[in-house]
Amino acid sequence: MSAESFSDASFDARPYTGGCACGAVRYAVAGEPLMMNDCQCRHCQQRSGTGHGSYLTFKDATVTVSGQAATWQVTGDLGTVKGHNFCPTCGTPTHLTFPAMPEIFIVHAGSLDEPGRYQPTVALFASSGHAWDTVAPGAHRFERMPD
Ligand SMILES: [Zn+2]
Ligand SMILES: [Zn+2]
Repeated sequence: MSAESFSDASFDARPYTGGCACGAVRYAVAGEPLMMNDCQCRHCQQRSGTGHGSYLTFKDATVTVSGQAATWQVTGDLGTVKGHNFCPTCGTPTHLTFPAMPEIFIVHAGSLDEPGRYQPTVALFASSGHAWDTVAPGAHRFERMPD
């Protein structure tokens, strides 16, 4: 096989890289996101400091994290234990991990080196959204979580 077989212009094979505002925590994810979504639940409002969080979810991707993130571990409504990882120095939320699902890795869209690669198609918890907050136009809105 020639090298050209691997260069399909329509497929962006570069890893998704990013990190916190001060640069202490960095990540690289090789793979394509399974889902890109906004979320207007109260936790995402509180943790983002604004109206919603924006996330890229990866499954079975090759993930590298450098630097020492702090983790806030919490059990969600559905009993899922989530680890919210953030930089202990600058406080930037960078990624989420799941002790029971190590194959899942979620990054915060704002922490990407190229945030323009975030193309959300889904908006969750629209029922908790505020009039002053707008999610991505065209995103499929769910009142809570889809079944
Ligand atoms: Zn930092
Ligand atoms: Zn949320």
